[in-house]
Amino acid sequence: MGTRTMRAIVKDSPSYGLTLKKVSLPVSLAPDEVLIKLKVVSICGTDLHIYEWNNWAKNRIKPPLIIGHEIAGEVVAIGENVKKVKVGDYVSADSHIPCQVCYQCHTGRMHVCKNTKIIGVDTDGGFAEYVKLPEIVVWKNDPSIPPEFASVQEPFGNAIHTVFAEDVSAKSVLITGMGPIGVMAAMICKAIGSSVVIATEVNPYRIELAKKAGVDYVINPKEEDVHAKIMKITDGRGVDAFLEMAGNKNALYDGLKVLTNGGHAALLGVFSDDVELNVNDLIVFKGIRVYGITGRRMFETWEIGNQLLKNKLVDLSKVITHVFDFEDWEKGMKLMEKAESGKVILRVND
Ligand SMILES: [Zn+2]
Ligand SMILES: [Zn+2]
Repeated sequence: MGTRTMRAIVKDSPSYGLTLKKVSLPVSLAPDEVLIKLKVVSICGTDLHIYEWNNWAKNRIKPPLIIGHEIAGEVVAIGENVKKVKVGDYVSADSHIPCQVCYQCHTGRMHVCKNTKIIGVDTDGGFAEYVKLPEIVVWKNDPSIPPEFASVQEPFGNAIHTVFAEDVSAKSVLITGMGPIGVMAAMICKAIGSSVVIATEVNPYRIELAKKAGVDYVINPKEEDVHAKIMKITDGRGVDAFLEMAGNKNALYDGLKVLTNGGHAALLGVFSDDVELNVNDLIVFKGIRVYGITGRRMFETWEIGNQLLKNKLVDLSKVITHVFDFEDWEKGMKLMEKAESGKVILRVND
């Protein structure tokens, strides 16, 4: 590798902002660890929270920490026990490091491991020239998938996990919230044959993004009656599936109200406060099924993602709106702060 230092984006102190600085290269791989040279990374909402130093970040992050977890790069060294990948492989990673020994991990539910550690949150992350990761999270990419798309597979996996909670082919779907994951979910629904995809969103930039991505109807709840419009589109039946991606209680109420009796709701959005709900009218008497979605199923979700990307069923260029050089990372953060972007990519190494 030559040099002993590398550039990394670091949370240096418990305050607003981040610093691009030289840090020492990760050394001494454990037997199950993989060293990856990053090619591109993408900025997540989580990274923005750490940059802004919100309440969640204050309680969770212990500086100094290299942030970032949406990555694509090349394996440059492996520990002695690593079998999944070899030097030269083109890889990405799930951001959740499962403990592999708890009740969930040994019953096929690693994605809800009780001892999950998150890359770039609990351990040094991938906004750097190199990152050291445990073999368990590493995912070997198909060479035909561009690195920009590969780096976005982590949030893309959230979208897949939510869409595939149940079969939505030939079904009407409502997605509340057209952030990047919402838009990706809409594209996946279209790709797998949902009959009609309806979205709600208030932000003008995101409304445009959703329309360009092929969402059939984008409703702005500030300007239109969500219930009336959806009943009209669905011939008075309501939607078959409701995917909540806004973490907004009004979106949750609207979605549950317009969900057809016997339908299902999959909730990915994270709510900032407790939500009061009429469980009888909105869940019990409607006979609906409600799914809580977190992370990605390891690795069923990644296999589906590979199929969608390798066969070009979903075009992630519609949701990747900005690509910056690593040095210009703060431009990306500022755009995301204003909610005037889709996914923002940083080029680390050529
Ligand atoms: Zn992420
Ligand atoms: Zn576990």
